[in-house]
Amino acid sequence: MKRPPGPETELQHMNEKIKIGISACLLGHPVRWDGENKEDRFITRTLGNYLEFVPVCPEMECGMGSPRDSLQLQGDVENHRLMTRKAGIDYTEPMEKWAEQKVTELAGENLCGYIFKSKSPSCGMERIPIYPEKGRAEKKGVGIFARRFMEAFPRLPVEDDGRLHDPKLRENFIESLFALKRWRDISGPPQKMSHLIAFHTENKLLILSHDQKIYREMGKLVADGGSLPAKDLFDQYEAMLVHVLGLHTSIQKNINVLMHMTGFFKKDITAEEKQELLDLIEKYRTGTVPLIVPVTLINHYARKYGQTYLQAQTYLHPHPVSLKLRNHA
Ligand code: SF4
Repeated sequence: MKRPPGPETELQHMNEKIKIGISACLLGHPVRWDGENKEDRFITRTLGNYLEFVPVCPEMECGMGSPRDSLQLQGDVENHRLMTRKAGIDYTEPMEKWAEQKVTELAGENLCGYIFKSKSPSCGMERIPIYPEKGRAEKKGVGIFARRFMEAFPRLPVEDDGRLHDPKLRENFIESLFALKRWRDISGPPQKMSHLIAFHTENKLLILSHDQKIYREMGKLVADGGSLPAKDLFDQYEAMLVHVLGLHTSIQKNINVLMHMTGFFKKDITAEEKQELLDLIEKYRTGTVPLIVPVTLINHYARKYGQTYLQAQTYLHPHPVSLKLRNHA
């Protein structure tokens, strides 16, 4: 049993890397149709410090070699097949059969998420071209393995390498991975109410930054939780947590949280300190400074004035500073 979250930042105690699945070519494995790889150095060199990767190449594991004839989805949106481009070999059934076995195998890995290779008819999570017999391709497909994976693990955060170049999507995905890892660390058996309360308390403002209505519903669930069997309570809480983390934050939502936190200091900080903080929040609102700037000052005041509740809030340290997130948000 791992320790429940304590008053200090949980990241300081996180000694296990976060395990995620990933398309093997993104790690630099030479498994592409042309014998090459698609290494993404942000993933391998930066995220790799915190994540443990479980590499998967559906096409190689399905029995195709590298190099090989490349594949594409052919047909229409409702009915399409995975075909080799030149020889016209239909790999739909072998891929579906393999994907079924693979998701069963991956269920034992306790993954916290997945990064797919974009644009692949096997791994792509969205907007994969489907080529009709005549006319233009429609970008409405999903890779065969990606679809099966997302059906099997609807609660896991997923992204692709292309979308991870968007700072907001990147921030949201990485924040979700860290939050889910913290949740996994406290939600295994024995499922104790005290662990759930501690987790919820420390993640309250993070949840609030995503959605106020769900924040209230989760608070009610925890408050009334004693009347439910622990298994059901933890399951319902996890479903809400995953859902809320998937809703994007916004400048206004973050400002609401920042102002809420400012209220904790009203008896402590000087008029100048308060004005400095309000000025930074305003600069964040107008886009002059990124979110990390007012968050850093609040962190400083929380330490200076011994605000232990705020110090423990994961909103103030949702992921390691070295990832340089929130510099764009
Ligand atoms: S996109 Fe998927 S199937 Fe294609 S090489 Fe990468 S891991 Fe393999």
